[in-house]
Parts: sequence; structure tokens; C-alpha cells
Amino acid sequence: MNRELNKNYEHLTLFSHGQVQTKMVTDEIVAKATERLQQKGFLNIPVDKQVNLAAEITRLKKEKNAVILAHYYQTPDIQDIADYVGDSLGLSQQAAATTADMIVFAGVHFMGETAKILNPHKKVLLPDLKAGCSLAESAPPDLFKKFKDQHPDHIVITYINCTAEIKAMSDIICTSANAEKIVNSVPKDQPIIFAPDKNLGRYLINKTGRDMLLWDGACIVHEAFAIDKLLELHKQHPKAKIVAHPESETHILKVAHYVGSTTGMINFVKNDDNAEYIIATEAGILHQMSKEVPHKTLIPAPSHEDNTCACSECAFMRMNTMEKLYLCLKYELPEILVPEDIRQKALIPIQRMLEISKN
Ligand code: SF4
Repeated sequence: MNRELNKNYEHLTLFSHGQVQTKMVTDEIVAKATERLQQKGFLNIPVDKQVNLAAEITRLKKEKNAVILAHYYQTPDIQDIADYVGDSLGLSQQAAATTADMIVFAGVHFMGETAKILNPHKKVLLPDLKAGCSLAESAPPDLFKKFKDQHPDHIVITYINCTAEIKAMSDIICTSANAEKIVNSVPKDQPIIFAPDKNLGRYLINKTGRDMLLWDGACIVHEAFAIDKLLELHKQHPKAKIVAHPESETHILKVAHYVGSTTGMINFVKNDDNAEYIIATEAGILHQMSKEVPHKTLIPAPSHEDNTCACSECAFMRMNTMEKLYLCLKYELPEILVPEDIRQKALIPIQRMLEISKN
């Protein structure tokens, strides 16, 4: 950290007329920002407009042997600077395999936690600690424990969008890319609790025929899609195929031509021979998708509110910015930490998932 502070002084000196004064101010600002990190969620340090953020992030990444893992729901500038862009399964596989000394997770809190669980000896950074997830928050650990205790004969399959504490109470983790395979890997006579996403759970019950006990959680972004507006939009684009993420509600999934994980959706649009698609998931996916199929028309699915509300953008994912990413890499804060007893318990179901996903 001191080494980085010195670099910061040097950098500011270039733009400053009074080197000594700048150093004192910078010292204070950094100290104050670090002090207020938990409250604020990120390092609230002003970044000089003349800093080329993309170039600085690339330089710092190389200098620190860091890797940037970004989710498809991040803003295009962050996706473009990342070493790997993917869905939860791909990101956790990358986190498990990386040889970098430091992981900067451009995603939400539970994703950073998963990377830390897999890499206890590496520094895992998240640009904004307050980048949470409505789905993860819909399963408070104390209530989930009570629920689990009421059904001791059930095994617990948990969607990766949950906290480390919930993972520590689970038997197998899944993502939307491998959920069907994970459910099918469990003996048919074994009762299952599926948490926290009820929409994905219902979809899996339908696909696998397994009568699972569902936790009542949901993602606010995927529940914001409006079926009436979607059908109206489809009338205007009758040749368009509807592509949806299984976190969406059942009535959306029923009218979809394809349902799958974010990577699955991208591959479908890439390999399918249609020219027009309506996409029902977080709008950030359109960036990678349009890179893959620049000649195809991609239309974001409409939400309940008027479309000025950006309801199909995840407010949590959008808390990360290039400035925060730069500051986090520069000062190596905020860092994700997971208590060791929870980490060890949470690692087992994640490793089970990675093992099943290999085959
Ligand atoms: S899109 Fe939904 S599930 Fe994904 S991070 Fe945002 S709130 Fe969570």
C-alpha cells in the first residue's frame, strides 16, 4: 500500500504546482477514504480526469500480476478491459484455475466471495463492497437454517447467487448453466431443497420432473419483465425469437424459444439461423452478444415500468465503474474476506459443482 501511495504522489505531482501540499492532501484523502471504506463500500478518492483509466488499469494489472474477471452484466468498458468475461460457472472455473496473485472481481459480492472461497491465499478485490444481489439477500442465513432444520432428510442444492453462509449450509452449488445436470446427479428418491431462486427452481422442476422444495427468493431484475409488453413487442417483431434467462418468471419462460444461462443465450443466438431476437435478461449481455452477432438484431425485453427506469439493468452490477476498478487495483481495497470456518464449509459444495461440471 505504501508503495502505491508513493506512486500516487508521483502521479499527482505531474499535474500539480505544489508538490508538498499535494502530498499532504493526498495522504489525508487516502487515509479518510480507507477509514470510511466499510460505510461507503468503495474508496472515495477523486481521480484526475487526465488519467487514462484503461491504460492505468492494464499497467497496474500487469505490475501486480492481477486478473480481472468480469460478469456479462458489467458495463461495456469494464467488460472490454477484463481478462475474462463470463457467466457464474465460467467465472468460478476461471477463479479456481487462475495463477494470478490477485483477483479483481468485476461483479457482485457473492461472486467475489466465491473467488475467495476457492483462493484463500490470494487477494480478492471487489470495486464496491455494496454491489450486492437481491437474490442473495432473499435468503437470510438464520431463516434458511431454520428452514433446512425443518427438513433434515432433504439435501440442499443452492444456486451460486447466495452468500458464503448459505453456501456453507449447502450440499451442492449450481449455476444456471449446470443446474439441470446437478439436479439430475442426485438419486431420484433423495428429497431436495432448492434455494434461493424460486423461478429457476420451478423451471428445474418442470425440466427434471423432480418435486423439489423451493425457497421463496427471486431476482428483482428478472422479475421486472412484463409479459403483456413482451407479447406486444413480439407482435411488432413476429419473426424474432424470445431468449430468456431461467431466473425470469414462468410466464416469460413459457413464451421463450430458448431458455438458458447467459453463456447459453449467447451461444444460442450465435448458432441459430434467425436474424432477430428479444433478450430477457440483464441488458449488459447485449454488449458481448452484439460482438458475437453484429449482423443480427437484438432487442431488450421490456419491463413493467416505462423503459426509462433501466429496470433490466442490475443496479448492483452497475455500482462498479472504471474509476472504482482503477482505485481498487491501485490501493488493493476493498478486499473480500470470508471467515475460515465458513470458507471451509462453503468450499465443499462448490468443489462438488466444479467436479460434476467437468463431465
Ligand atoms: S441480476 Fe439479479 S441475480 Fe444477478 S446480481 Fe443482479 S440482482 Fe442478483
